[in-house]
Amino acid sequence: MRYALVAFVAGAALVKVFQHRLPHVVYQGTVAIALLLPIGATFYAIWLLWNEWVGGRELALFLGLYVATGLGTNVGFHRMLTHRSFEAVAPVKAIFLALGSMANQGRCIDWAAHHLKHHAHSDREGDPHSPMHGFFHAYAGWILRGSPPERERYCKRLLEDRLVLFFDRTTALWVVAGLAVPYAVAGWHGLLWGGLVRIAFTSQVAFAVNSIGHMFGSRPFRTKDESRNNWFLALLSFGDGWHNNHHAFPTMASHGMRRRELDPGGLLINLLERLHLVRDVKRPPERLVERRRRNEAFA
Ligand SMILES: [Zn+2]
Ligand SMILES: [Zn+2]
Repeated sequence: MRYALVAFVAGAALVKVFQHRLPHVVYQGTVAIALLLPIGATFYAIWLLWNEWVGGRELALFLGLYVATGLGTNVGFHRMLTHRSFEAVAPVKAIFLALGSMANQGRCIDWAAHHLKHHAHSDREGDPHSPMHGFFHAYAGWILRGSPPERERYCKRLLEDRLVLFFDRTTALWVVAGLAVPYAVAGWHGLLWGGLVRIAFTSQVAFAVNSIGHMFGSRPFRTKDESRNNWFLALLSFGDGWHNNHHAFPTMASHGMRRRELDPGGLLINLLERLHLVRDVKRPPERLVERRRRNEAFA
């Protein structure tokens, strides 16, 4: 088993080196396996280590922190900070920013700058993570390449927000806190499942929205990009997978627009609004949505 794994990793590395000399399908197949392998390995580890390294407490930590930090990025970083889909009272804003920072997706202003650039150039030259430059580039390659975020250009207003700047400067501390909490609750096992595995999963989901969310799924709205509605992604990303809806109406708070488009992030915003903890929730007029659906939907 371990020799097979070593052989695969070495093979995958060679495939990357000789990418241009191999049939494209071999390259793509290997990359797909390399991306799916960690997910499969995680489930295998759960089965193998049940009662030893993983149990109910570890899975509860994984799930609890996955939901909390996932909502931190998808509702906090994305809808609140980047698109200003709603305004939150300071403590709620701080909680969202703290949870989003724990997800280990970088500094919140960098996140917003990359994402606003994505919306400004979606699937055209200048888009930091479009699949038009290849699936892997859109998935994680753009992060490996490390293009600098254009904070001054896209996030001037955030650079003047003291609360946002505080979380932007203390990101590393929040990442450590996101590891320390599960460690405090369940020791090394807690650190593994509530910290490392949780971060790996959240990252995979974010990578998938950027890539798969522009490749596979339906397009009820004709947008200038290739964004798609993908129910499976929406399930994993608390609603952000209704990505074509989002590109059609970027500032709207709810990404699910129909009854069957489940959007936990949007439901949370509605709940917080009822509790008077958020205000100015942006919702496009129904008439506008229907007009765009009727006139521009692909039949
Ligand atoms: Zn997009
Ligand atoms: Zn967006």
